[in-house]
Parts: sequence; structure tokens; C-alpha cells
Amino acid sequence: MNGLAEAAGSFTLTRWVSRKSRADFERWQAAALRRFLDRDLPQAPFYRKPPARLADLPVTDKALLMARFEDFNIHGLTATDAWAAQADDGRAGALTIGASTGTSGNRGLFVISEAEKYRWLGAILAKAAPDLLWRGMRVAVILPQNTGLYDSARKSRLVKLAFFDLTVGPESWRAALEAFDPTVIIAPPKILRHFASESFRLRPKRVFSAAETLDPVDRPVIEDFFRLPLDQIYMATEGLFAVTCRQGGLHLAEDSVFFEFEPAGEGLATPLVTAFRRQTQIMARYRMNDLLRLSKEPCRCGSPLRCVDEIVGRMDDVFRLMSQDGPILVTPDVLRNAVLKADRRIDDFRLVQTGPDSVELRLPPMLADDAAAAAHQAVRALLEMRKTAATVKLIRAPLPLETGRKLRRVECRLGRAR
Ligand SMILES: [Zn+2]
Repeated sequence: MNGLAEAAGSFTLTRWVSRKSRADFERWQAAALRRFLDRDLPQAPFYRKPPARLADLPVTDKALLMARFEDFNIHGLTATDAWAAQADDGRAGALTIGASTGTSGNRGLFVISEAEKYRWLGAILAKAAPDLLWRGMRVAVILPQNTGLYDSARKSRLVKLAFFDLTVGPESWRAALEAFDPTVIIAPPKILRHFASESFRLRPKRVFSAAETLDPVDRPVIEDFFRLPLDQIYMATEGLFAVTCRQGGLHLAEDSVFFEFEPAGEGLATPLVTAFRRQTQIMARYRMNDLLRLSKEPCRCGSPLRCVDEIVGRMDDVFRLMSQDGPILVTPDVLRNAVLKADRRIDDFRLVQTGPDSVELRLPPMLADDAAAAAHQAVRALLEMRKTAATVKLIRAPLPLETGRKLRRVECRLGRAR
């Protein structure tokens, strides 16, 4: 396997597809999906034979994939072996094993081949920074752990890639990051914001928020500091799902994933994804935990790939409350907006559902008391309007940078929604 050829092939394909009309793109995608259903999917024991149509396949999710891990990969690798490999050097023979961060028991595992790793790299370069590639780029990736995906890039001559481990804390690698002088930075928004507040000496040409939901409250702080528009890479253990284009549109990675959408109310949808270019771990009609708001308009850049207006948060973080009319759901964006719109001085908060009818609002002590009271009142008014009897407790406490877990400003701690 020639890694560079795989990456270059994927880069070229990704660019080529992005110039098609929507109708041509859909024909290309339908053929690629059909090939996947006929040739790749049946290799996984869970499936065995090609379905007549994608819709004939059952919907899958993380719980099912983890419970029957060996039936979804073509090498019969068991979850036990994969966890052992992941804890060691992330390798199982020629395969790379990675895991998502998360609470124990809720972590996802993935397994990919060398060829897939390079194809992933080619695709991400083609989407994220095609114009920078030929001038030599230095990419700093700052994520909670080394997922194994990024090792492939370190070896390439066109791209210098450095990985910085979030879990050990930014102060331990600040000097190394500044010396590396990255042209592209990929990091969770809370870390980009930390760079701003601590005045890290960085001068990237492009900055991507990744791995956590980008809250509108973080965007201006980060953009002002870097004097650049902030772009997004929406990726998860399950793969690469969307990347911002040069016109600012957040395009779904429909060139490698077929998306179906389940309505989640309030104009939001949760995706079912079929990764039709993956051949090692088969992922078909896999239900993601994310809430997306789809764009109605195509992007100015002319790409046929559909856009997402916003990744609103996770389905797990929807508040589930009791109202006079029965159980209700309140989505994270509605809750977040209630807090932020209460007072312009609020630029950080935590809103947590801690019990069936209890909610905690945390605001930092330096925020003015009248702003805190306004936010408290706004959340109470929202919940009253939805006819719930939930109590909202205001807590004034510092909101420290937590590097060991994903930042969720709106969080439901009742356990899983499904
Ligand atoms: Zn675009």
C-alpha cells in the first residue's frame, strides 16, 4: 500500500466531486453507495448479504456496534482485543484502533486500515486547506488523545503535523506549540478561547474548531484574537462529517457519507450515517447523537454538498422535563439562547439538568449580580412558559478550563436519552 498515493487519490477525488452539479453528484453518490452495499457491507458478518435498498437495513447505534463489535468489522476483531490494542499502541496488526473520549461505558471504538487512514487524510486536506497544501503547511492538532489517525500525516513531506495532547494541559506544551508556528490549528473551541485569554503567540492562516460543539458565544472571542474567520471540522469517532468551506458554509461530507435525517422537533434533525467509503468497520444507517439544523439554501461556493447551519448539540443534552401536559423536551440551543440573550455581559455559563425537575445555572463570580439575576430569571421564564415546575438553582462559581472532558455548556445528567 502506497500511503501517499492513497492520500493524493482521495485529495483529487474530493476536489473533483466538489465541482459537480447537485444532479451529477447525486448520480455519482448513488453509484458509490450501491457499490458499497453490494461489495463491502456483506463482508461484515452482521450483514452477510447485500440489501435491495439501503432502507431495508436496520438502524444501528453505538450500543449495538459496541455489543457486536466483531460482527461489524471484516477482520473479526473482538472488542476485547480492540480495547487491549487501544490501551497499548493503538495497533492490531496492520489496523489502527482508536476510541472516543467519554464516560466509561459510553466510549466508542473504531478500527481502520492504513489505506483508509491515508484516504481520510487526503479528504480532510482537500476540504480544509487545499490552497495551503502546496506552500507547505504546518498543522497543529490539539485533541484529548491521539486517535491514531494523525500518525499518517507525520510522515508526509507536504504536511508537517504536530499533535498536542489536551489531557496534559496547555501549559506543558505551550512553548513547543509556539515554536512549531502552525499555519493551521485544529482544536476544541474552549482551547482556542484559552489561547486568546492567555495571549499565546500564534499566527495561523486557518483555525478550525473541532471535537466539541461550537457555541456562538466563543466565536467572536476566537475570531478577534486570531483576526481570522473561525472554521469548523465536525468529526467524531465515527468519522469526518462536515468541514467549513472558504465561503463559510459548513458542508456535510456527503462524498464519503450518505446522510438520512430523523426529525427531532424545532427544525432540528439527527443524522443516520452510512460511511460508503469505509471497508474495515462497516457503518450503515448509524444513528448519531448530534442535533443539526440543516441549511435551506445552497452555499455560494458552488459545491454540491449540502450545508448545515448549525450543530446545535447532542441529543443526550436535551432537557427532559415534566410539564402539565406531559413530558417535554427542551433543546440545548433554546436553553443556551435564553441565558445569553438575558444580558450581553454573559460570555460563559453552565446549565445542567441534575434531576427530573431540577436545573442548575452556574455563572462566574466576576459577572455582575444583575446580569446573573437576569439569566436566572430568563431560564425560569422559559421553563414556566413550557409549563414545567422545574426549579432553577443559581450557583456563582468559577468555571475552570477542563481538559479531560468535552465542554458542554448545556448538559443533561439524567443518563442516556434512549
Ligand atoms: Zn461552500
